[in-house]
Amino acid sequence: MKPTLVFATGNSNKLREVRELIGQHYVVKGLADIGCMEDIPETSPTIAGNALQKAHYVRDHYQLDCFSEDTGLEVDALNGDPGIYSARYAGPQKNAQDNMQLLLQNLEGKDHRAAQFRTVVALILDGEEHTFEGIVRGHILEAPRGTGGFGYDPVFVPEGYHQTFAELDASIKNQISHRGRAVRQLAEFLSGRF
Ligand code: IMP
Repeated sequence: MKPTLVFATGNSNKLREVRELIGQHYVVKGLADIGCMEDIPETSPTIAGNALQKAHYVRDHYQLDCFSEDTGLEVDALNGDPGIYSARYAGPQKNAQDNMQLLLQNLEGKDHRAAQFRTVVALILDGEEHTFEGIVRGHILEAPRGTGGFGYDPVFVPEGYHQTFAELDASIKNQISHRGRAVRQLAEFLSGRF
């Protein structure tokens, strides 16, 4: 029988992607599948800290092996902001359009527009912590372009491309993205155990 691993997310797209990568070896359950409907605290000052906090929460409250991920957009000229505040940059309503507009406003007139997305996946397996990091560097445009993706995708152009993440095919984004890179490291680590 396959062991169960919880992915601490309520996002069904992320769950589907991860099941494609590690479903051969694990039954991957989302938060809804284990009856976890509460908001899990994310109060750490770092992306890695928040990922670990979520994974520990599930381990402590549900006694299940678990992994979680946390992502932030880090803009060089803004000293790494919005970072851990990426989802709620423009306020607690977590509106992606407002977040992007505030980002563009804060970068107005700035020539140096380099930025990166960083994802940390935190895994707690057999009582041990493991973290996997994925980074994609790029730059922030002066106005949004494209309709795909989500969040800051319409203003982010990854290095080596001319299109934004919102203009690139989802399969290309998955190949080069922060999350794709971190999750593939997790998948390699887990498949190495079989
Ligand atoms: P989460 O940790 O995946 O929920 O990401 C936090 C926030 O970062 C999201 O609300 C988005 O604003 C932003 N974000 C995360 N991943 C991406 C991405 O792949 N593209 C654009 N924005 C993202």
